Amino acid sequence: MRYSETGFNLEIDLSRGNIERVETDPRLTELHLGGLGTNAKILWDRVPPETEPFSPDNLLIFSTGLLGGTPAPGANRTIVSTFSPQTLLMAYSMMGGFWAPELKYAGYDKLILRGKSPNLVYLWINNDKVEIRDASHLRGKGAGETAELIRQELKEPKAQVAAIGLAGENRVYMASIEQGRSSASRSGVGAVMGSKGIKAIAVRGTKDINIARPAEFIKLCNEVLKYIQDREKNPIPGVMPILAGLGSPQEMKLYDEKWHTTSFMWGNSRTRRKDFWTKENEEKWKETQESVRTRLISCYNCPMKCGATISVPGISTYMMKCYSKLTYTMAAYSDLDFGFKIAQRATEYGVDGFSTPQVMAFALELYDAGILTDQDMPGMPSDTEGKFYWLLDRIVRREGIGDVLANGTYWAAQQIGKGAEAYAHNNIKKHEQLPLKLGMLNPVYFLMYSTGEKINITQIEGQFPQEPFPTKEEREAFVKDWIQVPDEKFKQYFLDWEPRGERSNPYYPTVEMSCEIVDWMERMHYIDDALGVCSGLSSFPLKPPYHMHNYPTLISSATGIDMDEAGLTQAAKRNRTLLRAVNIRRGMRRADEKPPEDHWKKRFPELEAQLLDAYYKFKGWNNQGIPTKESLHELGMDYVAEDLEQRGIIKNEQG
Ligand code: SF4
Repeated sequence: MRYSETGFNLEIDLSRGNIERVETDPRLTELHLGGLGTNAKILWDRVPPETEPFSPDNLLIFSTGLLGGTPAPGANRTIVSTFSPQTLLMAYSMMGGFWAPELKYAGYDKLILRGKSPNLVYLWINNDKVEIRDASHLRGKGAGETAELIRQELKEPKAQVAAIGLAGENRVYMASIEQGRSSASRSGVGAVMGSKGIKAIAVRGTKDINIARPAEFIKLCNEVLKYIQDREKNPIPGVMPILAGLGSPQEMKLYDEKWHTTSFMWGNSRTRRKDFWTKENEEKWKETQESVRTRLISCYNCPMKCGATISVPGISTYMMKCYSKLTYTMAAYSDLDFGFKIAQRATEYGVDGFSTPQVMAFALELYDAGILTDQDMPGMPSDTEGKFYWLLDRIVRREGIGDVLANGTYWAAQQIGKGAEAYAHNNIKKHEQLPLKLGMLNPVYFLMYSTGEKINITQIEGQFPQEPFPTKEEREAFVKDWIQVPDEKFKQYFLDWEPRGERSNPYYPTVEMSCEIVDWMERMHYIDDALGVCSGLSSFPLKPPYHMHNYPTLISSATGIDMDEAGLTQAAKRNRTLLRAVNIRRGMRRADEKPPEDHWKKRFPELEAQLLDAYYKFKGWNNQGIPTKESLHELGMDYVAEDLEQRGIIKNEQG
């Protein structure tokens, strides 16, 4: 019997209309756990590296995690993997909500789509009955509207529907997949879904999941829940409000936006407004938020309520969470009221709330600089908010200049030319990043930004505080109940980290310490992404309920797999290395691993090179970031080494 997973994937060939329920190999679960890990294995095995993202040969995988749908709090992530049109590398965007647990209850661990449907269709997965249905009547509809229409059509109000909007249909590189209370937004996974001719995927499942040792597992889940409740009552002192609690940053509960509005950049990631947060603005924004926020909501089996339903008079209700509250507002130098309004339209269109505002701000900068002219922007309104709506409508339809901007700032700049490249200044690996420009180089963040392959810093960082605490007393208080550290040495690293002086950035944490800290944080993210647990309860916040010391028993009791900390560390390392190998095979190299040039004002090229060298070595990669034969062998991945060798990647570049 298979525990905690169904042991079956659902595979659909859209070109031929073939639907198969395929039994999976349990040994792969032991090696990679599931979720992201087995997604990477499937992409490695089945998609040749030269495959174009919109080719029928590219796969689009929707995966539950190994713990997804079990009583483990927050085990609800859908891990969407494919090759990204934006970065050309492996995309693994994730969404919370309810979709993945429903897929598992329908009897599948993953849905794997290949080929391309000749007509626009949607999928209806109702336990064992799976249909490909015509979606021509849904063409052009919003993502939320589509979900509602499908539920009505199927007469199944409990169906969970993941859908794309106009942006996905038109293969806009920043197109998202929306799912009621969440979305898979990064890296253009919605565009790949559109390229396959899939408008939506509706799922209803009513089966059970087997648990290996249920009593033990439930006891552990209850301990996690209790810890969450205790942390609710005891936020971390001395850090800004959004970092004090658990979950995704609680933007829908909080009104205090001093940190974001004064630390993050406005416009095309250009301007810092240190004096923005006045009493008057605070009052105004609080009133706006209270007037549109109708209800706080959670994902499946989680008490955290990170999201909210937003109802602006005259437009339909939608869901919002986290920093997307501010992205449109700050890109347009506008106010919160505008942000809440335009985000509704953007959600229905199905676009990434991080990239899209930056693309529009980038276009307006090009216009101000005379690189784009009135000829490129015929009929664009004169007010900034009008300009944003005008651009958004054209981007999702790929009309006129919108067709160029729909490819994101990196590719658009190349197409526009005339010096536009200098304005696409906030990218890593061809993808827009958070609008942050800081002072002194932070060695830990340098490594995370440079080497992360998830294309979003918030999904790499966590666990270790972002900054040193000002006083020794505060640091001592912080480390007292820091049970999550995988090794006691991390406490000392933090205790010794000072805001100024010898033991401060950029030379402290030292190169070696920085490698260890980043490795710890990354390890936790890779575990979460394989298990399908929300990082908001594990790898992202300070002092989370899930950590290296309780995960092994939780996994063992759920799955029956004999797991300890060393085994879990090895599985995470295997997944991390495999994902790197997938991207290396697609051409990624050291030259791609750098933060935006102006991310920090004070840069230290020599130190940065040392950091990269040391981190690569620490991970078992050569000085181009390519996993070595030895490290692949140690992880049981000789097949990867052989492939890289055959392609001349190891032989030619290892020396
Ligand atoms: S912590 Fe927040 S984002 Fe994560 S599962 Fe819970 S409600 Fe969803």
